[in-house]
Order: sequence, then C-alpha cells, then structure tokens
Amino acid sequence: HSKRRGRGQITVYSREIAQEMRRATQLEQALRNAIINDNVDVHFQPIVRLSDNRVLGFEALARWNDPDLGFVSPSVFVPLAEERGFIDTLSETLLYKAAEATLSWPRDLFLSFNLSSCQLMDTRTATNTLAILNRIGFDPQRLEMEITETAVMTSAETARRIIHDLKSAGIRISLDDFGTGQSSLGRLRDFPFDKVKIDRAFVSALTTDRTSEHIIRAIVTMCDGLGLEVVAEGIETATEAQKLREFGCAMGQGYYFGKPADAATTMRYLKEHHHEFALVERTVG
Ligand code: C2E
Ligand code: MG
Ligand code: MG
Ligand code: MG
Repeated sequence: HSKRRGRGQITVYSREIAQEMRRATQLEQALRNAIINDNVDVHFQPIVRLSDNRVLGFEALARWNDPDLGFVSPSVFVPLAEERGFIDTLSETLLYKAAEATLSWPRDLFLSFNLSSCQLMDTRTATNTLAILNRIGFDPQRLEMEITETAVMTSAETARRIIHDLKSAGIRISLDDFGTGQSSLGRLRDFPFDKVKIDRAFVSALTTDRTSEHIIRAIVTMCDGLGLEVVAEGIETATEAQKLREFGCAMGQGYYFGKPADAATTMRYLKEHHHEFALVERTVG
C-alpha cells in the first residue's frame, strides 16, 4: 500500500518538475524575445555622499516588463539567463543601454553595473566590455563593476584575470552585498576591490538589533584602514541615513534617496538637481 503511495508521489513530483521545466523554457523564450525586441530595460538608482546627500553616481538595474508575463524580477531572469547560457548577451545589451544613458549625464557622475558570476568565469568578459565602451566612446574611468563574493570564489583565477584586465582599463571594482553569503575578510586582501557595498540586510536591521550596528561599524573601520570606499545599501529612512553618517559611512543608496527610475526620469531629476546643469542654465539664461 505504502509502496503504491510512494510511487504515486514520484509521479506527482516528476509532473511538477516537468511543469517547472516547461515554465522555465517559456520564460527563457520570452526573455530571448524581449532582448531581441529591445524590451529589456535598465533603470538607475542614485548613490549619494551621506555628508550632504549629493548624488555621485547611479547603479544600473535591469528591468523587464513583459506584455504577457507582467513584471519579472531581475532576481528571476538574471539567474535564468545564467542557467540557459545567454547572460553574456543580456548583459551586453544592458551595459550598452546603461552606458549610452550615462553619456548624457554630467561627467562627474559614475555608472555602477552588476556583473554576473558567470561572466567572471568567462575569459571574454573584459574584452567584450571594453569593446562596448569603445564603440560608444564611454570613458572606462566612469564605470564601476559590482561583483559578489560567490563570483570571485567559484572561479578565482579566471575572475582575477578579468578583474585585472578591467582595472587596467580604468574600471573600478565594487564588492556587492558584502557581509552575507560566503563572506571572508581575506577576500578583501586577495582581490583589488575599490569599494565595498554593505548588504541591505544590516541596514534594515539597524533599528531592531544592536548586532547590525556593530557589524556596520566594524566594516566601515576596516574599509577605512584598507583604503576601500564604502556604501551602505537599502537605506529607507532618515533615521537609518543618520545612523550611517554617525558610523562614518561615506556613501549610501536606497529608497530614501531615490528608487530605481528609467533613463528619462533620471535625466529630468538631474536637470532639476545637478549643479552642472544649473550652471549651464545660469550662463545661458
Ligand atoms: P543588487 O545588485 O544588490 O541591487 C540592489 C537591489 O536592492 C535592487 O533590487 C534594488 O532595487 C534594491 N533596493 C535598492 N534600494 C532599496 C531599498 O531601500 N529597499 C529595498 N527593499 N530594496 C532596495 P533589484 O533591482 O530587484 O535587483 C535584484 C538583484 O538582481 C540585484 O541586486 C542584482 O544582483 C541583480 N541584478 C539587477 N540588475 C542586474 C544586471 O543588470 N545584471 C546582473 N548581472 N544582475 C542584476
Ligand atoms: Mg548591485
Ligand atoms: Mg547589492
Ligand atoms: Mg543583492
């Protein structure tokens, strides 16, 4: 009897797995079409200097709003593109769009772009990246690449090579989501990072839990000592922003300063707020 039920369960599971695989394949096809039809977009979220809330740059974040499927999160479609082997195509499309948009911003603003862990295993990544920048005349010094610890761990030697080639061209490297996952302090010594982004989990726990405060303070002190820049992610309230200022954290990012917005909205925002545009308007007017 139990054997029969057992077998029945296997049937149910395999049906679910088959269904899951069909869904993933449909999603894959839809995403491939979206890339071809230029339906994958990139939004920009400000990164500010905490002492005066001045915008220093923007992080590019992929957005896909499918006419049939609706909004699909990048935490779903980026891993899918990685699994199905076309993250390089997706990422090149996104970098192209993000860099193009950045070209019309004031020149002192940087662009921060997420590299997937698969791209850090692919020896062509640096060459492809530089080719895109070159094609559109984008100064590599304005670009930062965000990578995660998982990415440098899984294929350390290839990752090291890619990071070296990107840095030689003037691109800066940020360690994203620091403090979660497979954190190792040794990694900060072994890889030539320029900046550390403190994961939003620590910021959102600030008001409820003293441990997070100690961890953030420790990260900030350590980064100061190592000569690394530091950004706190996921700042949602004035209280959180104020605490991070007190901890000596130089930069911040989060809904409190601005949600990710499309290129046109970002441009309008800059025209209203950025000193360089204000200057142009004053000299013209
Ligand atoms: P991430 O690189 O750590 O990006 C930060 C995420 O936090 C973004 O989610 C952003 O919208 C969200 N966020 C920013 N401020 C706040 C806040 O104050 N509160 C809360 N609750 N969330 C905040 P998003 O856009 O859904 O992206 C999720 C992840 O997907 C990213 O995490 C990144 O790992 C990946 N991703 C997004 N765009 C790209 C891309 O172009 N390429 C690659 N390879 N990965 C991407
Ligand atoms: Mg990021
Ligand atoms: Mg992050
Ligand atoms: Mg993240």
